Amino acid sequence: ANGLVRRSREPTVPMRWLHGCYGYQVCNSDLIPPGACNLLNSSTIYANNEVDLSTVDIYGFDYDYTLALYSNALNGMIYDKAKSFLIEHFKYPKEIHKYDYIPNFTVRGLHYDIQKGLLMKIDAFHYIQPGTVYRGLSPVPDEEVLELFGGTYHVPLELDSGFYGKGPKLKQFMDIFSIPEMTLLAAANDFFIRNGIDYDPVHLFKDVSEAIGMVHLKGFMYKWIMEDLDKFILRGDETDAVLHRLVSQGKKLFLITNSPFSFVDKGMRHMVGKDWRDFFDVVIVQADKPHFFTDCIKPFRRLDGNGDLQWEKITSLDKGQIYKQGNLFDFLRLTGWRGSRVLYFGDHLYSDLADLMLRHGWRTAAIVPELEPETKVVSTHRYALSLTWLQALTGLMERLQTHRDPESKRVFEEWQKEREELRAMTKNVFNPQFGSIFRTCHNPTYFSRRLSRFSDVYMASVSCLLNYDPSYTFYPRRTPLQHEAPLWMDQLCTGCMKTPHLEEMSQIR
Ligand SMILES: [Mg+2]
Repeated sequence: ANGLVRRSREPTVPMRWLHGCYGYQVCNSDLIPPGACNLLNSSTIYANNEVDLSTVDIYGFDYDYTLALYSNALNGMIYDKAKSFLIEHFKYPKEIHKYDYIPNFTVRGLHYDIQKGLLMKIDAFHYIQPGTVYRGLSPVPDEEVLELFGGTYHVPLELDSGFYGKGPKLKQFMDIFSIPEMTLLAAANDFFIRNGIDYDPVHLFKDVSEAIGMVHLKGFMYKWIMEDLDKFILRGDETDAVLHRLVSQGKKLFLITNSPFSFVDKGMRHMVGKDWRDFFDVVIVQADKPHFFTDCIKPFRRLDGNGDLQWEKITSLDKGQIYKQGNLFDFLRLTGWRGSRVLYFGDHLYSDLADLMLRHGWRTAAIVPELEPETKVVSTHRYALSLTWLQALTGLMERLQTHRDPESKRVFEEWQKEREELRAMTKNVFNPQFGSIFRTCHNPTYFSRRLSRFSDVYMASVSCLLNYDPSYTFYPRRTPLQHEAPLWMDQLCTGCMKTPHLEEMSQIR
């Protein structure tokens, strides 16, 4: 196999030699650099941009899915409740009740074509990934997708405009709450299609979206979580440890959440204890993000201990108080917390992070819980092997394409088939329908591109901070650009070698 790598770098490869040697059977473990699989650890913080923690003295947090991570059990409950609203309130056919929640049918970051009723994955270059388009619960064949989109997989910008993922015809599902929403859309579409019932997908989209909204607005989700905090809140001890650690290091902390105070208070008491507010210099609830970051109209209001709104003008944001609404411009004026001294953590790339990154220059940290299961897959020997072989095979095809003799052509076709199989395999191990949230076959996803644009660092949960010293500097790995040679020692093999301290870190968890 070492010979394979060396030989394939030669400018021309003798046909007979290739044919004899490159069956799948020569693709053995030697292709993978020793220890490569052990180097990935889901407790790692990944850097898109260099961040020196010693220069950060103010830490801001979103609440839901940032300080409080929720169990997947919530998704099925949101789905069931919204399904009942769809049938009882919006008068949809009762038979939709038969569609049970399907865990892991969808993944975050997918796009939904509102008029065509299609769920799909789009890459960083605005192309639909073939094989990831679903109508209802069934995949749409590639030929039909091409027909539906005017002979191309490309999705024009005007269909999907705006930083918040809401174009006139496409919606990108970005928060973790949208997993049950996508599943319900798929189920209801499936019901109408299977039964040959004429319906307008635009109405369905609007009604499902409102039904999901009702689960939140009517307070069901808050109620379920508050009734069984042990069941629904994950890793509370670790959140507690992170906050303790930051405060003991003299950092200032603040919270900006869209959730109501009573709900946040209950969860924080559960995770941190009744004195949780002592940790935070400023607490803002029902902030109405993303408008909080862009509109400068709504003033802050103070809530008293009973949660009642006060009428006085807010001239300072004080520790121990609770504020509602407000806006970032007043926040910056009253606190003076500007620029790169502030690191803000949130799970929603658009609502939490985009404006802060683009307009205000705070440092941003994205919470991406999917990193945990995805890193597990990437770390398996089988995946590493398939991916390395896929890359090697692609390199060979690139060289072989100039050979026009019939035998070369035949081999090329064989390899093409094998490459397709490998691509399907490396997609399906993440999610059989949509694959990884970070990659399409060979490109980063639309989600990935936004993640690298709007976050300085990203991690599976805030507890990853526990693995790093308060003065740690995150250095992004220098991945070669396409026109650059991979000159760095850590890039020479597969590009996944030598991430600082990972070997030591693998002992931590
Ligand atoms: Mg959140």
